Amino acid sequence: MPGREEFNDWYNEIVERLELTDKRYPIKGMNVWRPYGWKLMRNIDSLIRHEFDSTGHDEVLFPLLIPKDQFAKEAEHIKGFDSEVYWITHAGLNKLDVPLLLRPTSETAMYPMFSLWVRAHTDLPLKIYQLVNTFRYETKQTRAFIRVREIHFFESHTCHVDFEDAERQVDEDTKILRRFAGKLCIPYLLCKRPDWDKFAGAFYTLGIDALMPNGKALQIGSIHQYKENFSRPYDIQYEDESGEHRYVHQTTFGMSERLVGTIIGIHSDDKGIIIPPAVAPYQLVIVPIISKKGAVEVMNAATKLRDEIASAGIRVHLDDRGLRPGNKYYHWEERGVPLRVEIGLRDIEKNSVVLVRRDTGEKSFVPRSGLITAIQAAMDAVEKNLWDMAEEKLKENILIVDSIDDVVISEDEDTASGIYSMPWCGSEECAHAIEEKTGLGLLGVPSNRGNPEYAGSYEGKKCAICGKGAISMVMAAKSM
Ligand code: ZN
Repeated sequence: MPGREEFNDWYNEIVERLELTDKRYPIKGMNVWRPYGWKLMRNIDSLIRHEFDSTGHDEVLFPLLIPKDQFAKEAEHIKGFDSEVYWITHAGLNKLDVPLLLRPTSETAMYPMFSLWVRAHTDLPLKIYQLVNTFRYETKQTRAFIRVREIHFFESHTCHVDFEDAERQVDEDTKILRRFAGKLCIPYLLCKRPDWDKFAGAFYTLGIDALMPNGKALQIGSIHQYKENFSRPYDIQYEDESGEHRYVHQTTFGMSERLVGTIIGIHSDDKGIIIPPAVAPYQLVIVPIISKKGAVEVMNAATKLRDEIASAGIRVHLDDRGLRPGNKYYHWEERGVPLRVEIGLRDIEKNSVVLVRRDTGEKSFVPRSGLITAIQAAMDAVEKNLWDMAEEKLKENILIVDSIDDVVISEDEDTASGIYSMPWCGSEECAHAIEEKTGLGLLGVPSNRGNPEYAGSYEGKKCAICGKGAISMVMAAKSM
C-alpha cells in the first residue's frame, strides 16, 4: 500500500497504468472509461440494482436536460448548484427561449413529473432510482473517479405520506448501504452533516465518508431527508384517506464512481490493487503452465476448466497469451484479480489444480472434484479479509481526543493525520470553532444508523472546545 505521502502520485499513475481510465480525452475532468474500469463500474451498478430491485424500488431513466425555469423553483437548491452548472443556450442556429442545463443532480428533473404521478395516498410510497451521468463544473483540481466533471452515479428518490414513513426509508437506505459497502469491502463513517454543510434544500443530510491512504476523508455518498422542502415548490401533493390534500415527504440516496476510486485507494499493496470479489471484472484468472511436452493437453484442460468455472456463474478469464506464466501472474496481480488458478501437466495427472489468493498469496492444491466449492470459499475469505484489513485501518486512523489542543494538523496539503473525533456540547458556536481552529471540515455527528462505535463514547465527557457537558461526539477531517 502506498504511504501517506506517495498516495496522490501513486493513484494518479495507477488508474491509467491498469487501464481503468484514460485521462487524455480533450475535456478536463471528463475521462474515458476503458473496458477494465467500466467492467468494474458495471459490476458495482449491478449490485446496487439488485439492492434497489429487491427493496421495492423501480428503475427509471429521466432526460439529461432540465429547463432553467424548472431548475430555479427551489431557492436553496439553485443557490447550491448555480456555480457548477453547464448551460445549453443554443440549438442549431437558434437561441433557446428557455436555456437548458445538464443535470447536476435530478431533483428538478424528476419532481415536476412526480407532481403529475402522485395523486392519492394509494400512489405512495413512490420509490424510484436511476443510474446516470451528471455534470458539475468542478473548479478544484480534477482526479480520476474522485473529482470529475462528468460523474457516473446512482440516485434513488422516494415520496412518502409523512415524515415518519420517510424516516423508515432512511432506515432502509442505511441497511442497503451496509450490505452494499460490505460487498465492496469499504468500511465507512455515517455522520449527520452540520446544517451549513447539508445538501442544498435538504432538511438533513447523512454523509457517507471513507478513509483514504493519505489520511483524508472522501465523501462517497449521501442520504437526504427532504421533508416537504421540495414537494412544496414542486407541488407534489396527494389526497389522504379523509380527502385532504397533503404534501409528500421525500428522501434521496446516492453514491458515485468515487466508489471505484475508493476501492483502488484502500485495497492496494506493493503489487498493485486488490478488487473485492463481488465486483471484480474477473474473479479468477486461469494461467496454463505450458512446457514443450503436453502443450495441447494443458490448453485443452485449461479451456475445459474455464467453461466449468464459468458455468458456475463465476467471472473467469483464461490467459492464453504466449507469455511466461510469471509475466501473467504479475499482470493479473497488479490488476487485482482476487484468485488465480494454475494448471500444468503434473496437475492434470494428479487431477488437481493450484489455487492462489491475491490478498494473502496463499497457495493450495485443490482436487478438481471440489474446485467450485473451494473457489466460492476462497472468494468469501478474500472478501472478509479485505473488509477486516480496511476496517482495522479506519479504526487506527480515527483519532479520539478530549480537547481541541490535541489535534495535530499536518502541514502538508496532500496528507492528513487521520479523522478526528471529539466530544461536543451541541452548540453551533463550538462547531464553527473546531473548523476555524483546526482548519478541518466537520463531518458531523456519528449517526446511530451507521457505526457510531468507531467514534468513541461522549458519555461523561466535556466539550472539546468550551468544556460544558458533551451531548455527542463530532468528527472532523481534511477531505479529498
Ligand atoms: Zn462546546
